[in-house]
Order: sequence, then C-alpha cells, then structure tokens
Amino acid sequence: MLRSVSIIFLIFMLTQAGAQDDYTKLREEMVTTQLQGRGIYDLETLKAMRSVKRHEFVPRSARHLAYTDGPLSIGHAQTISQPYIVAYMTQELKPKSHYRVLEIGTGSGYQAAVLAEIVDTVYTIEIVEPLGIKAKECLDQLGYKNIVTRIGDGYQGWPDQAPFDAIIVTAGIKNVPPALLEQLAEGGRLIIPVGTTFNMRLMLYTKKNGKIKHKERLPVSFVPFTRG
Ligand code: SAH
Repeated sequence: MLRSVSIIFLIFMLTQAGAQDDYTKLREEMVTTQLQGRGIYDLETLKAMRSVKRHEFVPRSARHLAYTDGPLSIGHAQTISQPYIVAYMTQELKPKSHYRVLEIGTGSGYQAAVLAEIVDTVYTIEIVEPLGIKAKECLDQLGYKNIVTRIGDGYQGWPDQAPFDAIIVTAGIKNVPPALLEQLAEGGRLIIPVGTTFNMRLMLYTKKNGKIKHKERLPVSFVPFTRG
C-alpha cells in the first residue's frame, strides 16, 4: 500500500516537473518570437518576462494558453494583457532597480510581478475586489515581497506613497487623471492607454524640470477604466 502511494506520488512529482519544463520552454519561445522578434530590446524587461510564470496568473482552464500571443480573460469582464504589450509598457517606463512604481489596474497581478522583478517596490490598485484579493494571494504564494496591493479606485493615485518614479495604468481612459501627473517624480515616466474603445493609444508622459510632455505610442485596446 505504502509502496503504491509513493509510486503515485513519484509519478505526480515527475509530471509536475515535466509541466514546469514545458512552461519554461513556452516562455522562452514567447520571449524570442513575440518580444525580441518585435523589437523589445531592454535586457531587464526581457529577463523579467523570462522569469515570471504567466501560467500562474491565468485561470486554470486557460493555462495551456498562457504563453500565446494575446490577452486572456481573467473573469469579471477583465483581461490579462498580451505579453508583448506588458513588455512594451514595462520597457517604456525605463525601470531601474531603485524605482518605486505605481500601477493602476492590478487585474491578475502579472504586470505588477514583471515590474517587481526589476524595481524596488510596486504599489498596485485594483477596483474589482475579488480580482484584487486573488492577485494578492497569487503574488504572496509566488513569494513577491515588494508588491503592495490595495483595493479601490485608482483615479486619485496613491497620495501617501507619492511621488513615484514611474506610473503604469492598465485600463483605458478618455483623459489622463491629473492626480497621476502630480504624483510623478521629477524625471518620471507615466504610460497609459488614452482614448475610447475604438480609438485608443498608449501615451507616454514625462516630467522634466516640473514640466509635463507627452508622446503618442502604439494604438491599443484595453478594458475601460471605471470609477468607484
Ligand atoms: N495589469 C493587469 C491587467 C489588468 S486589466 C494584469 O497584468 O493582469 C485592467 C484592470 O484595471 C482590471 O482589472 C480593472 O478592474 C482595473 N481597473 C479599472 N478601473 C480601475 C480603477 N479606477 N482603479 C483601479 N483599477 C481599475
């Protein structure tokens, strides 16, 4: 009896190890084809995308799709962004190891984890409570110690922790929230999808000598920014 239990356990462990290897391979392919193949060059971003286990952030039923080239549903009408977009936005922030970063729209927690691999601390806010709770559980389980989560409307940013070296918004909004520009540190960068459902673009805002400048980036499609 004991023997057959240990054999079953051994088979289980081997299958698990095999699955992890498969995911590592799929992740590597994702990085070479979807990211480097499309011009993502920042080494820290590529390293983070290679390390973070995207399959842990998607619903169990969608794990086999975790490394495919598109967004995936995470429930509550929300999505985890396409890997390329996660990498692109990360790279645009020019993240450094001492940075404190604010994210609005925790969703699955995946983007926060990617940033947390590079920077000092990530502060992330999610308006949909069950998503925020689930993301925190997932991040805790994976051992991320430098991500601070909060549930609420991120429109006003996180004044207590401001200023931030970089800010990322992962839901689409008509106009950039003024509080986020205020909470950007000198020399900081803010990336945000701005526009309407059918006409949206990533915009990059920078603050130099207290002045805000913006540049248009990629056309994108994001779930809407909602208000509490
Ligand atoms: N960054 C996420 C993708 C999230 S999708 C990831 O890596 O999985 C966008 C998220 O923004 C959704 O979960 C949505 O609920 C959240 N959101 C929308 N409006 C918000 C607001 N005002 N404050 C905080 N989060 C918001």
